[in-house]
Amino acid sequence: MKPLAPRAAYLFAALLALALLPTCDAAERSPHWEKVRAEHLKAEPSCAWCGGAKDLQVHHVKPFHEHPELELDQANLITLCEAPGLNCHLIHGHHGDWKKENPEVREQCELHRAMVRIREAAAARIVKRKCEAKAAALQKRLIERIDQRVADSGRTWDACAVDVATDWLADRRGALEAGNQDRWDEAAAFLLLVYDRGVTPAPDVRRELVAQVEDILRRLAAE
Ligand SMILES: [Zn+2]
Ligand SMILES: [Zn+2]
Repeated sequence: MKPLAPRAAYLFAALLALALLPTCDAAERSPHWEKVRAEHLKAEPSCAWCGGAKDLQVHHVKPFHEHPELELDQANLITLCEAPGLNCHLIHGHHGDWKKENPEVREQCELHRAMVRIREAAAARIVKRKCEAKAAALQKRLIERIDQRVADSGRTWDACAVDVATDWLADRRGALEAGNQDRWDEAAAFLLLVYDRGVTPAPDVRRELVAQVEDILRRLAAE
């Protein structure tokens, strides 16, 4: 077959595009979508990020326009809210831009929910153990240590916080694993600080953290 002359090739491409356009546009929602959507909301009745139950949307992790074949696949669906002032759907499902997508949304939601649960358990422990003053003093020392490391290394606060946390943990791992209650008070104070400063753990740490969350929660529950 002779190659098409440039002009003919252009025309051919234009015609092909025109012929294909209606098919692309015609990727309509399946008649089963409403049923699948309702089933998903029954199984996951709250926002995977914030836990809220207002203005819920069922989001496609792999977007419908690129993966219409996954439209009805429950594994590709996640519940996210569009509650005023939050809009977890836009912010976490679409990275703040409806044209974008976030393939890691599920993992990020899991980590966030795990961190929220750990934060709540840590705060509750400090109150229950009446160790607020001790916790505040430790947080102050840790902040100084992290600030110092930032000044020495020129690295970010987050990175230095992770370093300090790693060193701190290395020194106390044995005592923590042995269930030393004073050390767990300190761990609660440290976890609160890390959470409230918005320090984001590295991906490998995240996975480990999510895997260990139940154990951490159990240990944070004051005796
Ligand atoms: Zn939400
Ligand atoms: Zn969406």
